Amino acid sequence: MLLAAACAPAPGGGEGSNSTAVTSPTPGGVAVPDGPAGLAIVPQGGADISSVIDGPTSYRSHENLLLPIVSESGEWLQVVTTCSSEEWVRRSDVEIVARSAAASPGPGFDLSNAVIVVDPGHGGRDKGAKGPSGSNEKDFNLSISILLHNRLAAPQDIDWETGHVRPGDQYPAVASVWMTRGPEGPDDGDFELGLAYRADVANRAGADALVAIHNNSSPTGTLSTPGSDVFYAASSPGSDRLASLIHEELMRGLSPFAASWSAGGVNGPQARIDPETGDDFYGLLRRSDSSSVIVEGLYISTAKEETLLGTSLVQMAYADAVYRGLIRYLTSDESGTPVIEPIPFSGTVGSPSTSSCVVPTQP
Ligand SMILES: [Zn+2]
Repeated sequence: MLLAAACAPAPGGGEGSNSTAVTSPTPGGVAVPDGPAGLAIVPQGGADISSVIDGPTSYRSHENLLLPIVSESGEWLQVVTTCSSEEWVRRSDVEIVARSAAASPGPGFDLSNAVIVVDPGHGGRDKGAKGPSGSNEKDFNLSISILLHNRLAAPQDIDWETGHVRPGDQYPAVASVWMTRGPEGPDDGDFELGLAYRADVANRAGADALVAIHNNSSPTGTLSTPGSDVFYAASSPGSDRLASLIHEELMRGLSPFAASWSAGGVNGPQARIDPETGDDFYGLLRRSDSSSVIVEGLYISTAKEETLLGTSLVQMAYADAVYRGLIRYLTSDESGTPVIEPIPFSGTVGSPSTSSCVVPTQP
């Protein structure tokens, strides 16, 4: 029997499955779905946000936030806020990073041109799953994501015999690695994000891959190997191979740590499909145009695995496994763990609605 992963991102219903707002420009703006504009970065000191072009300032956005650009009109850019709403900001008030041109992963791929989006699951009042001793999934997700970011942002060597990763010159730093929430943002990265926002950061950055970092809850049994899941976007080419490689590397990286692992009914690289629409069940994966996966590394709801998640060794092993999976996905045509056939899935899981989400303002 399939149980919902309680920590997983909400399906579309979580914050409006019929919302097309982020792809429909407000009248007056010119849509830039394939245009040069990509991400607006709020500079030091913040940036004024208005609900309409030439309108009064609604609030001053917190510095270092990424704002995906939806459309443009003269001096104004229509952007998606961290709460997935659409607002306007003056072009001169932000730094603009153009959308990266798409490149095909495989042998010969130039890593130094790669754009990766790392999405730490949950944040702010959305704490995700909880461990028996009170730790919150959102915090582990962020710590692991920061380690992954740091691997990607600097050149590394990988010993493929052992899986060991260390600074070196075998694999260059990627061109850009964006975190949807990171330590340079408000509250050291502990703030709420909408699913549409998370997907749109990847879409507007032109990401070669979007990796969401989560940890699971509500196991149904145990396994002798880690009960890791990697959910892939059935609708985005390459996502299945990315999931399969990350899953294989997670097995290699996490297996040495514990004798008994929590598990769900089906574990491995898999897709969940909404039987009513035939589309991806998870809103993040459905909305993303990039090769996208949601990684559920360990079961935080089990005392043993919660303890493991609190150690730097396991956090590093998790991050390095995802790093190796990404490197193999981008630079080879290998496949990893065979993917499980897409599974019809419906249920009520996930993050709270963003209806009371608040965009962080500049203090
Ligand atoms: Zn989660």
